[in-house]
Amino acid sequence: MFCPECGATDKQMVGDICIDCFLKNYQMINIPEKIEVHICSHCNSKLEEGKWSESNIPEEEIIYRALERNITINDEVENEIINLEIDQIKGTIAECFVEVVGEVYGTQIEETHDVSVRILKTVCPTCSKIQSGYYESVVQFRAANRTISQEEYETANNIVERTLNKQYKSDKLAYCPQIATLKEGYDYYIGSLKSGRKVANALKEEFGGVIQESSRLISEDKSTGKGLYRIWISIRIPEFSVHDFIKYQEKILQVIDIDKNRVQGTDLNTNKSSTILWKDYEAIELIKKEEDIEITSIISKSPNIIQILDLTDYSAVDLDMKEGFENFQIGEEVKVIKIDNILYLLNKVIK
Ligand SMILES: [Zn+2]
Ligand SMILES: [Zn+2]
Repeated sequence: MFCPECGATDKQMVGDICIDCFLKNYQMINIPEKIEVHICSHCNSKLEEGKWSESNIPEEEIIYRALERNITINDEVENEIINLEIDQIKGTIAECFVEVVGEVYGTQIEETHDVSVRILKTVCPTCSKIQSGYYESVVQFRAANRTISQEEYETANNIVERTLNKQYKSDKLAYCPQIATLKEGYDYYIGSLKSGRKVANALKEEFGGVIQESSRLISEDKSTGKGLYRIWISIRIPEFSVHDFIKYQEKILQVIDIDKNRVQGTDLNTNKSSTILWKDYEAIELIKKEEDIEITSIISKSPNIIQILDLTDYSAVDLDMKEGFENFQIGEEVKVIKIDNILYLLNKVIK
């Protein structure tokens, strides 16, 4: 075969020309001379193919990845080895060197490219939201029919902080840009709805109570017609605490435990334990507080009757013997509660 470019007749042909003439202007890879990388100066996220991805990778690694991403290898190349090197970094520009060794139609060739990678520091959408004090949800910490104690506020603050710290690993909007302290309770502004819900649930875990959500349209995206909603999540903690007395479906109970699912109490008439779910919260009535418990003493005891002193008029009151009462000794100090003019002796285990 005859090469029309160089006139050679004894060479391997690639199409109409010989391999040497083909390789003269051949490049194994294509890579732009200038590459730009956008990095968030706050969180180190970087913009790749139109998407911000969270990553805390070092700057050099970002440069290498930018080079890799911008290389396209031509089809004829086989057994290629690509070597990337950063020559020097001057300010925001990294001067890089790309070396390629590969085979094209059985001939091993080498080529080099000089590439500059420019790192543009900017602010990612998440960080710009945080900077502007953006929030998606408001967790309203409230109590039913009472004020919240300073101690409860402190506990709540700690829970909010702890929950957000834990959430931050997976949600960068897990932050609280503002706490509004109102007479009726605190409003915790939370960056994301997801973390707002976590916060409300963590508060419920500690205090019990009822969570309610409502949303308000705060703006509308004119291009998509989609509304931007902010969600208010109210957690209303119960009026009663552990050791208080409540009425539920004609039962009088002393509360012995509260958690995120239920209230547990001991029935003062039967000494048996009873469970109320939070969905039935509205049917619970607080009747006496722990502070209303009085101390009196056992006057006498028989197999069926236990007699205690009513401190209001110093009369002797006969109560039916119940499970747990048999261990009381005559003269022993005991706790009683008077409800609807009936005196109840509290079991030792109730405290
Ligand atoms: Zn030729
Ligand atoms: Zn960022």
